[in-house]
Amino acid sequence: MITTDLLIIGAGPTGLFAVFEAGLLKIKCHIIDALPQPGGQLSELYPKKPIFDIPGFPSINAGELVDNLMEQIKQFQPGFTLGETAVSLHKVDEDYFEVVTNKGTVHRARAIAIAGGLGTFEPRKPEHLENLSQFEEHGVEYFVKDPEHFRGKNVVIAGGGDSALDWSIFLANIAQKVTLIHRRNEFRGALDSVEKVQALKDQGKINLITPAEVKALKGGTHLEGITVETNGEQVDIATDFFIPLFGLTPKLGDLNNWGLDIEKNAIKVNNALDYQTNIEGVYAIGDINTYPGKLKLILCGFHEATLMCQSVYSRMNPGKKYVLKYTTVSGVDGFDGSRKEAEKAVVKKID
Ligand SMILES: Cc1cc2nc3c(=O)[nH]c(=O)nc-3n(C[C@H](O)[C@H](O)[C@H](O)COP(=O)(O)OP(=O)(O)OC[C@H]3O[C@@H](n4cnc5c(N)ncnc54)[C@H](O)[C@@H]3O)c2cc1C
Repeated sequence: MITTDLLIIGAGPTGLFAVFEAGLLKIKCHIIDALPQPGGQLSELYPKKPIFDIPGFPSINAGELVDNLMEQIKQFQPGFTLGETAVSLHKVDEDYFEVVTNKGTVHRARAIAIAGGLGTFEPRKPEHLENLSQFEEHGVEYFVKDPEHFRGKNVVIAGGGDSALDWSIFLANIAQKVTLIHRRNEFRGALDSVEKVQALKDQGKINLITPAEVKALKGGTHLEGITVETNGEQVDIATDFFIPLFGLTPKLGDLNNWGLDIEKNAIKVNNALDYQTNIEGVYAIGDINTYPGKLKLILCGFHEATLMCQSVYSRMNPGKKYVLKYTTVSGVDGFDGSRKEAEKAVVKKID
């Protein structure tokens, strides 16, 4: 069982920044995310796109912002349960809530921050393939959770966006053979990724088949091959893995059954105070919440996370008054023993 002060559901930018604000208040955090990596929409949907409305950054790539947030919270040593979906929430006693994931990991915390964005991202599946479910987790994978899983194997990736391009490039140096299949000749991903795939194709490291569509899966207890239709012809390809990367659709899923006040796929919160939900001690911040005037922007999530942490502090330290301190004045004391502080100002002696 994992026990912490503040359990954050969702490792998007809002959840990550909440760890920093909580850390300033000496609140320990643990984060759960259904995806195998932190960053939420930024990592999953647009890692290479520049964002222009993060204060202080005229332009920053989404992936870089996630890296920076991870660097900023490192000193507060948050725990992570990645690749697992929070499926239930209930109160155990006066002090603790319990959240269990789809893989049975039990988390207990004194307060809960739901920073679940648009919900969990469910992969779009190639449902037209008859025996798809037979091979799910037996050769058909929707996420590359651990690239090492594919070392020395034959891998077929299908899709035309950034994920398909990026994973083809990455696995080209790990897998024995990578085949990339797309139903069109043009890809929708970043230009430099398309160029890299072209170069790897020229070097014989990626087998590129376009326009093409996977028509059948073959094998016994594990996938052994696929049938591809290309230019009116059916071709059999032997493979250990088939990774269809056709995008993700967000779903609130089990969150709907937690007794929360939900309006149009978002959790209603008290925005006049602290972004608490109708369940005391359970907060909702970032894209997942709703209140009059709500804006689904990263900087709004940061603001909500900050106010929410103040409320969690009061909840954990009843009767203790918190006095706001600027980090320029107080410095930052990490849970890892590190200390960051501004250089002491040189005060000139006045004669
Ligand atoms: C293409 C695109 C461009 C954008 N550009 C901008 C921009 O320029 N500026 C800007 O401010 N905003 C932009 N946005 C919006 C911005 O990405 C969101 O406002 C931001 O990601 C919200 O952050 P979040 O942390 O609240 O949620 P998310 O980033 O959605 O992260 C939520 C996380 O929670 C996880 N999760 C959900 N439910 C569960 C569960 N039950 N168990 C475990 N994990 C769960 C999800 O897997 C996800 O990782 C853009 C969005 C898109 C799609």
